[in-house]
Amino acid sequence: MVRPIKIRKLYLPHPTITFSPINSNVAEKKKVTLLSEEYHALRLIDYELLNHSQAAKVMGISRPTITRIYEKARKKLATALIEIRELEVKEGNTTLHGSWYKCKVCGSEFNIPDPDLFQELCPVCNSSELYKL
Ligand SMILES: [Zn+2]
Repeated sequence: MVRPIKIRKLYLPHPTITFSPINSNVAEKKKVTLLSEEYHALRLIDYELLNHSQAAKVMGISRPTITRIYEKARKKLATALIEIRELEVKEGNTTLHGSWYKCKVCGSEFNIPDPDLFQELCPVCNSSELYKL
């Protein structure tokens, strides 16, 4: 029997983005898809230099699970680089901490820890054109 996948916690929204090599015919090659939890494992371990135990705590999962996610992410990243394929980041099995908003005007993404104090204005440009992530 397959165990249900535990939802991983993210403290930042992940970018919905595709990286594509230039000067290369990638259209005929299958894209490599990095899930949001894999993107964040790379961010926490390779970019923010947390160890696996620290990264596991941030994402609310066990150390063996973060190691497994991280190894998958590294393999996918290497595959995209070595095989010169597009790399996309997509939603995986994750949820965001707190209430996250994105400003339609300046593109800023921000977290509101206490919704009672939220004035529904972007803290960067004061626009009221926001949407919940
Ligand atoms: Zn703004």
